[in-house]
Amino acid sequence: MISTDVIVLGAGMVGTSAALHCQAKGKRVTLVDRRGVGEETSYGNAGIVERDGLVPVGFPREIGALIRYGLNLSTAAHYHLSALPKILPWLWQLRAATDAAGIIRFAAAVETLNRHSIPEHRILAKAAGAEAFFRETGWVRLYRSHKGLAEAATLHDLADQYGIEYRHLTLAELKEMEPDLNPVGVGAVLWPETQSVSWPEGVTKAYADLFVGQGGTVARGDARSLRRGAEGWVVSTEAGEVSGTHVVVALGPWSNDLLDRFDLKFPLAAKRGYHMHFAPKGEATLRRPIVDIEKGYLITPMLKGIRLTTGIELAERDAPPTPVQLERLKPVARALFPLGAEVDAEPWLGKRPALPDGLPIIGPAPGVPDMWLDFGHAHLGFTHGPISGRLIAEAISGEKPSIDLTPFRAERFGRR
Ligand SMILES: Cc1cc2nc3c(=O)[nH]c(=O)nc-3n(C[C@H](O)[C@H](O)[C@H](O)COP(=O)(O)OP(=O)(O)OC[C@H]3O[C@@H](n4cnc5c(N)ncnc54)[C@H](O)[C@@H]3O)c2cc1C
Repeated sequence: MISTDVIVLGAGMVGTSAALHCQAKGKRVTLVDRRGVGEETSYGNAGIVERDGLVPVGFPREIGALIRYGLNLSTAAHYHLSALPKILPWLWQLRAATDAAGIIRFAAAVETLNRHSIPEHRILAKAAGAEAFFRETGWVRLYRSHKGLAEAATLHDLADQYGIEYRHLTLAELKEMEPDLNPVGVGAVLWPETQSVSWPEGVTKAYADLFVGQGGTVARGDARSLRRGAEGWVVSTEAGEVSGTHVVVALGPWSNDLLDRFDLKFPLAAKRGYHMHFAPKGEATLRRPIVDIEKGYLITPMLKGIRLTTGIELAERDAPPTPVQLERLKPVARALFPLGAEVDAEPWLGKRPALPDGLPIIGPAPGVPDMWLDFGHAHLGFTHGPISGRLIAEAISGEKPSIDLTPFRAERFGRR
């Protein structure tokens, strides 16, 4: 039996960061995953460390959008009809949680995390020798219509309120910044404070290497083997049984698979998304991520090529991939930027772990002593990993968390 203070279940960006921060508090920590570090959702995201994520991805309220989504005509979202009965209650909760008041609540809570996300990443990146992956170029939201730009007023008002910098660009100004882009539409907005990385998986693995280099253990095992033993929590791994006083559940979209057994279940949906890499044509270069807002996709330069990431697919978490949006978006993206050959044999499919109010759960598990929850980071999990890891480590150590955890309490969803 390997005896530790803290077992962290799930080695994505969230669990790996929690492991590092618990270790920094002097705890002996084992990080457990059934796969390698950072090989699920933290592998294929867009690598944005977002300062300006202040508006939740909500339920479409306008009739035209509802029809487009309903008929599965949108490139921004896609759904499996067969999954609707299961997903509808979650969509209903999403609708209620992302009304005008919900957006204000979301912004107030998420801003407390966003504010610390870049500095927290940079601290870990420096210690892990991963700084070269980070870029300080900001990112750009591109608007195709005046209506789209007008709808961004909520984001801009919130950015003004929280003192986040942004700059309106004409298409000519954008072209000057990104000479190989062929921007279409009515304008763009540059968010200079946001940073991005050129290899999300590499950053997660570098943080895990730092953890191991400092004496931490990474073990392969199934989190669902967790049980209470005489010495606290026990989980089975390929290296043998590991015991710990505390356990942190950072299993992303799989968190309910374990929590179910402890009479805890949360309205956690998997908002699926795809990516594909393309070689740039000729000498074409892209310097920063560009989000084509109304078409609902993003292109960003990665070590492997230009990564195109899609918006949301609502489906059963484990249903086979249906990369319809990606196929529809290829010609749209090619018109925006000269994309050459596809680099990947197959599109990558990832699953954003999403609660209806768009906020994560960070804190103690209700009614389960010494169990801590850190999941549900949805569209911002790569961004929030390091700061949420710090908060969990502070809470486990009996310190007052440096950010008020009230908006992130599990109890907001009640017990089962
Ligand atoms: C297309 C796309 C683009 C995105 N872009 C961004 C972005 O630009 N910026 C951003 O901040 N976020 C982005 N996200 C969201 C972000 O990727 C996620 O929020 C984040 O990766 C979640 O991290 P996690 O550690 O919670 O989950 P994961 O990375 O999924 O980690 C969970 C881990 O749990 C393990 N696990 C599951 N079940 C078990 C089990 N039974 N036993 C043991 N281990 C288990 C898995 O193997 C996995 O390693 C994007 C997501 C997608 C899909």
